[in-house]
Amino acid sequence: MRAWLEVHRVSEKKPTPLVSQPSGKVCPVCGSRTYSQGGIHPQCAVHQADAARTAKLKADRKRGWGLKIIKGLMDEVEIDSGPRGTTVVMSKSR
Ligand SMILES: [Zn+2]
Repeated sequence: MRAWLEVHRVSEKKPTPLVSQPSGKVCPVCGSRTYSQGGIHPQCAVHQADAARTAKLKADRKRGWGLKIIKGLMDEVEIDSGPRGTTVVMSKSR
């Protein structure tokens, strides 16, 4: 084996793992370990509710163009705002 390694110039050193070791971060949505830098799974991030903004949504003077643009670009926009936070579900058919 050692001879084969020398012939093929393969190092005997243990390779460094390509996948990072568990970071110790726990996803706040599903509660399982995550390796992403943000500390949340990308697939879970869309389900993380923003802070509640019921008052802002019902205000007469709205600040930005965000929702108008979103509603213009998407086929369906569903906004659910309550004490547990605000969730925006956007869907677009091709
Ligand atoms: Zn998760």
